Amino acid sequence: MSVEKDNKKNKELLIIACVLAISGFISYLAIILLASYAFGEGTKFGIIMAVATVYFCLIEFFALKVEVDAGYYECRKCHHKFSISYFKALFAPHILTTRYIKCPECGQNTWAKKTISK
Ligand SMILES: [Zn+2]
Repeated sequence: MSVEKDNKKNKELLIIACVLAISGFISYLAIILLASYAFGEGTKFGIIMAVATVYFCLIEFFALKVEVDAGYYECRKCHHKFSISYFKALFAPHILTTRYIKCPECGQNTWAKKTISK
């Protein structure tokens, strides 16, 4: 695959990941608010909360999978670009697509920024 095509694909995947993550979060909030308005704090509310939480987690796990597959993370210290496993990404603290991970090149923990191109 050409570099240009690869960059375009990565950009599209990142947009899909963002849309999934954000819409999943908004739906989750909307379901909780509507359920609490409709049922108060009863058993029905508990069931809806449980189902909504499972649904929310599924969407977020899927969004993370798309995010991990798209593009690369760039080390802030040595500017090395690298990919990480889904498992590592799952447990790495993050702010949007910037993750706190260990750089495989310099071995330092860094807030690695997501980049489209290698
Ligand atoms: Zn580094």
